[in-house]
Amino acid sequence: MIPSVLPTYNRAELTFVKGEGAWLIEADGRRFLDLGAGIAVNALGHAHPALVAALTEQAHALWHVSNLYKIPQQQALADALVAETFADTVFFTNSGTESCELAVKMARKHWSAAGEPERTEIVAFTGSFHGRSSAGIAAAGSEKMTAGFGPLLPGFTHVPFGDHEALKRAVTEKTAAVIVEPVQGEGGIRPLPDACLKGLRELCDETGALLIFDEVQCGMGRTGKLFAHEWAGIAPDIMMVAKGIGGGFPLGAVLASESAAAAMSAGSHGSTYGGNPLACAVGLKVMEIIADPEFLAGVSRRAGLFRQRLEGLVADHPEVFEAVRGAGLMLGLVCKAPNTEVVKAGYAAGLLTVPAADNVVRLLPPLTITEEEIGEATDRLARAAESLAPAEAS
Ligand SMILES: *Cc1c(COP(=O)(O)O)cnc(C)c1O
Repeated sequence: MIPSVLPTYNRAELTFVKGEGAWLIEADGRRFLDLGAGIAVNALGHAHPALVAALTEQAHALWHVSNLYKIPQQQALADALVAETFADTVFFTNSGTESCELAVKMARKHWSAAGEPERTEIVAFTGSFHGRSSAGIAAAGSEKMTAGFGPLLPGFTHVPFGDHEALKRAVTEKTAAVIVEPVQGEGGIRPLPDACLKGLRELCDETGALLIFDEVQCGMGRTGKLFAHEWAGIAPDIMMVAKGIGGGFPLGAVLASESAAAAMSAGSHGSTYGGNPLACAVGLKVMEIIADPEFLAGVSRRAGLFRQRLEGLVADHPEVFEAVRGAGLMLGLVCKAPNTEVVKAGYAAGLLTVPAADNVVRLLPPLTITEEEIGEATDRLARAAESLAPAEAS
């Protein structure tokens, strides 16, 4: 008999009843150090006092009104995002998937309005993840996500991640847009080198194709800059945001330059919930905290420490781990043991991590994780590794 919850997840036997900062407390009282953070969602940890205050204050005043009316919290969050990024304008969604839908629609509308309605093609990368809608799975293109869901949304082509020559061949005067994660998340924490991001920007400028960055996972301070592409000193035309921007409240956004977004007029897109007062009151507080240069410098500092500890861990446990990669507090342990076994051994050691493709274990702690907690996380990872490959008795 099918379970009452549609069984699309293999759930661990863990039920969390409370969260405090980087910690989750199981129904039986066990404390787990959370290096998954709801898959990069709880960017400020669990029950951050400033977010609790912003949420409850807004909850007492007004939860939801339609986008038929003016929403000051939404206006303030859009202004903050425009002030801190390349963008001239913002549309709010409830998830990364919805941000993907609008990014694709916006790119196609741009060319339709420019008198090139046949210019619809979107170039994407293998190993990418852009969400579970029809456009999202067509963009990612992997068999695992698309099997049985055809006919797929047409107009997507895929090039191997990091293959410059294939990319040059694929991006032409027929390309509406290129969509890429500056750091692949689900694909196994694979950063696109700065030189590739710069080259991609040049390629798009030469052909006129719009550049869409999917910063749903790598954005909102995760790499130590507000958005990951800032490290490369270039900007996209359109950017998808979600996950960390709501700190745990469902919120997403599409940011765009004026020229990319110019064709989106009244009635061309919409959302019932997107950008409602409750979501934006929380998002505004998240933005206020994360966009602070001092906060971001702290992320980079602690990321450096964590990375150093993890290099040591890999060196101490070569039978379990192969390498560390990633950017900022978006880190991946490339495993020799099956990554799902490492994640399970982590549970036994009171540690939550998330598997990704390429036999990687993802470490996406709250950006507020302390140095002491980083030490604790490394100790627990070492215990997990020892349970998989016991060190020889000396
Ligand atoms: C999670 C994710 C999405 C999809 O976001 P949802 O909120 O689950 O719809 C899209 N792109 C990337 C890079 C993601 O990590």
